[in-house]
Amino acid sequence: MLVLRLHCVEYNKNRRSKSSDGSWVGWFVNLEVNAFLCRVPYDYIEDKFNLTGLETMVPNFPQALDALLDTEFDTEYGFNPMETDSETTAQLYGLIHARYILSPLGIDKMYMKYKRGDFGFCPRIYCDGQLMLPVGLTDRIGESHVKVYCPRCQDVYQPQDRCAVLDGSMFGSSFPHMFFMQLPHLLPEPPIEKYTPRIYGFKVHKSALVPASTESTASNNNDSNCNNQNTLPSSVDSTQNLRRRFNFTLT
Ligand SMILES: [Zn+2]
Repeated sequence: MLVLRLHCVEYNKNRRSKSSDGSWVGWFVNLEVNAFLCRVPYDYIEDKFNLTGLETMVPNFPQALDALLDTEFDTEYGFNPMETDSETTAQLYGLIHARYILSPLGIDKMYMKYKRGDFGFCPRIYCDGQLMLPVGLTDRIGESHVKVYCPRCQDVYQPQDRCAVLDGSMFGSSFPHMFFMQLPHLLPEPPIEKYTPRIYGFKVHKSALVPASTESTASNNNDSNCNNQNTLPSSVDSTQNLRRRFNFTLT
């Protein structure tokens, strides 16, 4: 699993300055690559109801759970790539984390990280630096890395930092939507502005961008839709006519 291998390789150089409490969970959430994760409390992990169904999703479940609950973890050496249990322990923590952040306490913890901008800001200009939340494209382990969701444009993006290698199942596909269901006052208004492609101030008619082979068909279909004075008329909107009309070359 890509994310888990990275943990062991980069452990020493990616430790955060904040010291761990000596537990496996403390060590794991303090890794820089895991900055999107919040800490799941032991009482939540120890409640068997919260682990229902995970026995069949993680190999060596009992050993992985024992390791996860280890309060005297050897932080000097951290993740040992020769121990397969270490990978499954991280998988198990990720699946428990995905459940925990849907609970009221988990949403509170993720809210603190959201408010601090830990998950980044939407790169879309018209979203004006909207805060984002992590999301998985699926709920299954190993299918895709985590993405970040913008509640303003309602689209997903690639995270920009090291957390981009985290497995998306550690957050699940429901998290941001449950978050805003619980905290609806945080849901931003949709963006008002939308980028409009223009050439020399004129809106670019969509038929001007149609490949030559389908140009004539598209032009016929769109003739009746081109009455806007700010849009180039479809009768002159072929690439050749644009060049002739404005005496410039489209590249
Ligand atoms: Zn956005």
